[in-house]
Amino acid sequence: MGSRTGSGMRKTLKMILFKNSADLRNFLEKNRKIKELKTGFVPTMGALHDGHISLIRASQAEAGLTICSIFVNPYQFDDRKDFEKYPVNTESDILLLEKAGADLLFLPSVDEIFPPGKSLEKYEIGYLETILEGRYRPGHYQGVCQVMSRLLTLINPDHLFMGQKDFQQCLVVKQLISLLKLPVQFHTVPTSRAPDGLALSSRNSRLDPGQRKQAAAIASTLAYIKSTFHGGDPAPVLRIAHQKLEVSGYKTDYIAIARAQDLRPLVSWDGKEKAVALVAAFLGEVRLIDNMLLN
Ligand code: AMP
Repeated sequence: MGSRTGSGMRKTLKMILFKNSADLRNFLEKNRKIKELKTGFVPTMGALHDGHISLIRASQAEAGLTICSIFVNPYQFDDRKDFEKYPVNTESDILLLEKAGADLLFLPSVDEIFPPGKSLEKYEIGYLETILEGRYRPGHYQGVCQVMSRLLTLINPDHLFMGQKDFQQCLVVKQLISLLKLPVQFHTVPTSRAPDGLALSSRNSRLDPGQRKQAAAIASTLAYIKSTFHGGDPAPVLRIAHQKLEVSGYKTDYIAIARAQDLRPLVSWDGKEKAVALVAAFLGEVRLIDNMLLN
């Protein structure tokens, strides 16, 4: 476990792996009593890449104990095929996390998180569940809330780190935290990108080499919006952006510009209010999402 020595240096011991909630809870409770270490939590679905590692780094900068979880949550997949094809690289993930200096890894089974026979809660997410990802992936954010409420209640971290790459998810989880009145500080970590601009994603490994070349169009389209749209009605720039994506081989679910604070539509932008462009599109069978703040 990474702990502070008297000289303030970080001493790195091996990462500890937990599969069982009770063991993890006991460990954290004992640890809290002995040391006054702040805990940082990084939830993931595995198939880790540098984007995930940037969340680990952000946690290490803030907290003395970094806990990562890997759990492919079946309840947040509205598309069965997407769930079945979701990449699983547990062994290499463990090595990556150890190398990055994560302190604890929680690797539960589905029954550990969702004990059979126990009914699932329904969360009041309101507007966020009706738009963009919420609209195109019915039930997705209920699944996210169901797993996040369990993980946050179990781990009870001081800090939570999630990626801007999943912009709407960050807003949903912030809303969940306030609904449950959890004493955790939320941190949004900027999106890590490949050199051609493509946002790193576990799903990128499912792109064939031809698709991988086309894939960067999603980021260049967002960059186009950012450089050309400075205010007024977003509809004309969104029409061109849509065409750009389709010409590059994408089938677009949505491309939108919204208020960054709550994702309400911007009918006419004053150029000052914080705004974000968001996109979800398919290359073949692979659905990618990305977003870019416009100011
Ligand atoms: P996932 O494993 O896809 O559920 O992602 C776990 C966490 O990593 C989420 O908070 C994501 O937003 C974040 N994440 C995924 N991709 C990136 C990226 N390219 N840059 C930064 N964070 C990311």
